[in-house]
Amino acid sequence: MPGTFFLNLFLPAFINSLFKNLIMDTFQTIKGSARIRVLEYFNVATRDSEDLFYQLLPEDLVSQAIEMGEGILSNTGALVINTGEFTGRSPKDRFIVQEDEADKAVNWNEFNQPIEEKYFTGLFNKMMEYIKGKKLWVRDCSVCAKKDYLLNIRVVNENPCCNLFAYNMFLRPEKEELDKLKIDWYLLQLPRFFADPSSDGVHRKSFVIINFAEKIILIGGTQYTGEIKKSVFSILNFILPNEKKVLSMHCAANVGKEGDSALFFGLSGTGKTTLSASPDRKLVGDDEHGWDDDSIFNIEGGCYAKAINLDPAKEPEIYKAARFGAIVENVVFFPGTNSIDFSCKKITENTRVSYPIDYISNALQPSIGKIPDNIFLLTADAFGILPPTSKLSIQQAIYYFISGYTAKVAGTEEGVIEPKPTFSECFGAPFLPLHPVVYAHMLEKKIKEHQPRVWLINTGWTGGEYGIGSRMKLEYTRAMVMAAIEGKLESVSYRLHNLFGLMMPSSCPGVPSAILDPEFTWGNKEAYLKAANKLAGFFVNNFKKYSGDISEEIFSAGPKVH
Ligand code: ATP
Ligand code: MN
Repeated sequence: MPGTFFLNLFLPAFINSLFKNLIMDTFQTIKGSARIRVLEYFNVATRDSEDLFYQLLPEDLVSQAIEMGEGILSNTGALVINTGEFTGRSPKDRFIVQEDEADKAVNWNEFNQPIEEKYFTGLFNKMMEYIKGKKLWVRDCSVCAKKDYLLNIRVVNENPCCNLFAYNMFLRPEKEELDKLKIDWYLLQLPRFFADPSSDGVHRKSFVIINFAEKIILIGGTQYTGEIKKSVFSILNFILPNEKKVLSMHCAANVGKEGDSALFFGLSGTGKTTLSASPDRKLVGDDEHGWDDDSIFNIEGGCYAKAINLDPAKEPEIYKAARFGAIVENVVFFPGTNSIDFSCKKITENTRVSYPIDYISNALQPSIGKIPDNIFLLTADAFGILPPTSKLSIQQAIYYFISGYTAKVAGTEEGVIEPKPTFSECFGAPFLPLHPVVYAHMLEKKIKEHQPRVWLINTGWTGGEYGIGSRMKLEYTRAMVMAAIEGKLESVSYRLHNLFGLMMPSSCPGVPSAILDPEFTWGNKEAYLKAANKLAGFFVNNFKKYSGDISEEIFSAGPKVH
C-alpha cells in the first residue's frame, strides 16, 4: 500500500490530520491516500519551515528568483523569466483520473484523456519522493470572486517564480482569512520532475493530471505557467456547472460607468485580454468567469496577457502593468540593456506577462458585475472571410458559441507554426471536462432569459487572407465594440451576408464603412466567394457531430455552402 511509508513516519500527525479532516471536511469524501498525504506533508502549521517557504510576499519571491538565477529585473522592475522548453500549453498531455465521480460526468475526448488511478498514484509517489529534501514554495490562494463559490487551493512549487505566478493570478486571501482557510484543492507543480512515458501512463515527460476524487492537480515536466491557471480553470469548469448550477466561461468581462457589463468570448489570441482592458470601462477579468442567477464574477485574481508587440500607445494599461511584481515570460532585452524588446519572437511568439488584476488602474473590486448587456464572440479569422462585426440571433449565438471558431496562428500551443482553422467547443475545448452541450444549453437559457445583444467580432484579417490582407486595426475593433455597447449600432442599417447569414452594420462610428463588408475589401470578389464557401464548408463539417444533441433551429443558424 503506497501510504504505508508515510504512516510509519508520521503516525501521530497522520491520525491528527485524519481527525481534523473528519471534523472539518464533513462534506468532502477523503477517498485516497494521496489526499491524506498532501494534507499532512504540506501542513504548514506543523512543518519545519526551513525548506518550506510559505505565503511569501512578491518582493521576497522576486529576490529569491533573482538570487537563484531564474529571473532578471527589467528596467520597469518586472521579473523576466524563461519558461524553458515549453513556451505554451500542451493540451495533449492533460489527463483526468478515471474514477466513479469523473466517469459519470466527464466528456472523455482528446483533451479529457482518461488515466488510470494507479498511474496517478505512481506519479504522485514519485513526485513526493522527488521533493524530499528540496526547497518548496507553498501558497494558499482562492478562486471565484463571489464568496458563494469560493474555492481554496494550496499551490506547491519548486521554484519561487512559479509561486509568484500563483500569487499574481489567483485571489489573495487576507491575513486574517488565512488561519481559518479550509483547503479544498492541492496543486503540485514540479517543472523539473519528469515522467517516464514508458511506465507512467502518460505520453511524454510533461503532464497535467487532474484527480477529482482526491482533489489534487499534478503538473510535471513543464514550466509554462499557463498550465497552472488553466488546470485550475478546468476544475472550475467541472465544479461550477455540475455542482453549483453556475455557467463557467472562457471569456473576459468589463463594466461601464452605468454598471452595464460585457463578455468577450474567444480562443487564444482573439483579443479577450486586449479588448477587456479598455480605458473607458472597468475590468472584471481577462479570461475566466462564472455566470449565476444574478451576476457574473471573475474566477481569477490576475491577468495573463500576451506581450508580443506590446505597445504603450495601443495597450497602455497592459504595458504599465509590466512592472515590479509582474512576471514577463520568454522575452529578450535590447542588447546591452534591461529594456524588453516586445517585438522579438526569438524565443516564442507566445510571450506573456502576468500581474495581479489591480495592476490595471481601472479594475473593478470585487470582480463581480451585473448580468451582461452585450456578449462578444471574438474570432481571429486568418482567412479574412468573417465580417469585422455582425449581430447575431440567439440561435446564431449558440451556433457560433458551440463552433468556437478561430484560425490559429503560431502561439500559445506547442506545435502550431502556421495558421489553420480551429474549432474549439464553447471557445475552450481543452478546459471543458463536461460535454459542450451542457455549457451551450446553460448559455442559451441565460440569453433567452436576459436578452443581451450578441455580436460576432472578427479581430483577424481583412482585405484577404493571412499573408495577403492585414490584421484588423485594434483601433477599429475597439470602436466597433464601443459602438455596440453604447447602442450606436441599434439605429444603423444592416446588410445580410449571403453565405453566413450574418447581419453586418452598414456604418459604425470611428470605422471606415468600406471595411464592414469583407467581400468589398478583397481585390477579387470571385476569390472571396470561393474562400468564403470553403470556410462555410469547414463550419458545416465541424457541426455535423452535434446532430442529435442540438436543436434543428440552432443547426440551421449556421452558414450555408453554395
Ligand atoms: P489568451 O486566451 O491566450 O489569453 P486572448 O484572447 O486574451 O488570448 P489577447 O491576449 O488579447 O488574446 O491577444 C490578442 C493579440 O492580438 C494582442 O497581442 C493584440 O495586440 C493583438 N491584436 C492585433 N489586432 C487586434 C484587434 N483588432 N483586436 C484585438 N487584438 C488585436
Ligand atoms: Mn488572455
